Amino acid sequence: MNNKFGIPEDQLEKVFLRDKNCSYCGKRMIFPYNINNRKNSATIEHLNFDGPFYWKDGLKIEDIVIVCGSCNSSRGIKPLPVWFKTLYCKERNINKKTVSTPVKKYLERKNL
Ligand SMILES: [Zn+2]
Repeated sequence: MNNKFGIPEDQLEKVFLRDKNCSYCGKRMIFPYNINNRKNSATIEHLNFDGPFYWKDGLKIEDIVIVCGSCNSSRGIKPLPVWFKTLYCKERNINKKTVSTPVKKYLERKNL
């Protein structure tokens, strides 16, 4: 389970085991990542839009969730409250009430 962010394998594995469904839209994801089905593949998502993105820079495991490729690319680097207002989220009913518990906890921690 290689990752370019330097996240320890054992910690990342727990996140992948927890998040079988997309933490944003709830879709069941494909794992491992399938280049021919990016939209449905499981990807590492940083809840912080402004980092830190790397373990060596202070990234914490509670700021990581697994989301589908569609949600990951739609959100990009938008702060979550900004992203929730986009058409993508409205069409899929993605908001602070519908996201997974780890995302809700993050929003609470950050007062978002
Ligand atoms: Zn999704």
